[in-house]
Amino acid sequence: ASTPGRRQIQRLPDLLISQIAAGEVVERPSSALKELLENALDAGATTLTVQLEGGGVDLIRVIDNGCGIARDELALALTRHATSKIASLDDLERVGTLGFRGEALASIAAVSDLAISSRQRDAAHAWRLRARDETASEPEPAALAAGTMIEVRELYRNTPARRKFLKAEATEYAHCAEAVRRIALAHPQVAFTLSHNGRSGLHLPASDAAGRAAALLGEDFLGESRALEAAAGGLRLSGRVGLPAQARTRADAQYCYVNGRFVRDKLLAHALREAYRDQLHGSRQPAYCVFIDIDPAAVDVNVHPAKTEVRFRDARSVHQFAFHAVQRALAATPAHLLGGETT
Ligand code: ADP
Ligand code: MG
Repeated sequence: ASTPGRRQIQRLPDLLISQIAAGEVVERPSSALKELLENALDAGATTLTVQLEGGGVDLIRVIDNGCGIARDELALALTRHATSKIASLDDLERVGTLGFRGEALASIAAVSDLAISSRQRDAAHAWRLRARDETASEPEPAALAAGTMIEVRELYRNTPARRKFLKAEATEYAHCAEAVRRIALAHPQVAFTLSHNGRSGLHLPASDAAGRAAALLGEDFLGESRALEAAAGGLRLSGRVGLPAQARTRADAQYCYVNGRFVRDKLLAHALREAYRDQLHGSRQPAYCVFIDIDPAAVDVNVHPAKTEVRFRDARSVHQFAFHAVQRALAATPAHLLGGETT
């Protein structure tokens, strides 16, 4: 007999392991959506349709026109630690896809009612599989254009503790819309549509970097920003930095990417803040979208399951490089466009 507080060591059941992992990967509906969008992009999709209901809690549906999944791999796609993106530590060190951990679909499936339909380009029809509580049905024939459709229903249906922390529907939807914007900004050549409860949210036709930035950051942003273009020592910086006239009271237009992945990085945020220091005073927040391209071997993206954190091998030189490139771009600003603090 065991004393209170001390049980025998046991291996956790698979479903529980996935539910625990889901706590990190699927913090809220927008995090599930982000994973689904990344999968679609990794599959080479050029058109993404997102349909949400109830802030994403009732339904997240993502339809893409990517490469699709073979019938016999559908069940595997929902299995933990199953991925088509890396096969070795070597691959991991130089990973170029957005995903690689092979746990997003398994985590989402563990806390929802998930259906996946997919059709490879040369297949006669699609196959559909449904999973609930880690029990997947046999694939059944289904109708779908080439690509993949994932439907996530009743998110957190079996994890009431997490469900309690969800915010109002409008808030969860706002987070979902932001997840789409973040990804759309880095993939201007991909068309995105987003709807919520049947109402249109975002409609972004395929475009170029400037067109997408204008669509998401405002038409004024193009005229009131400077293009970044710098390269040195295997690092490349591109994107646009908003002039003081584009500064806002809230830091809600600050987008940083490393190798196409949206990141929240203290080091980069600091470099940018410093670069803006002479131009922006007080509490005004700059608007920018900055893309850093770096040798994948020089950055570690495997820091957190959500992959929004990175570690640079040579953090100092990345900081210096970003700081100088942004400062230079801002300094090239004609005098009459400076000091737009009054807006
Ligand atoms: P990861 O993206 O880290 O590989 P996921 O759990 O997100 O792990 O997905 C598991 C696998 O399922 C992927 O490696 C990929 O092969 C396949 N997959 C998932 N979503 C799609 C999609 N939209 N189109 C094609 N294949 C997909
Ligand atoms: Mg993935």
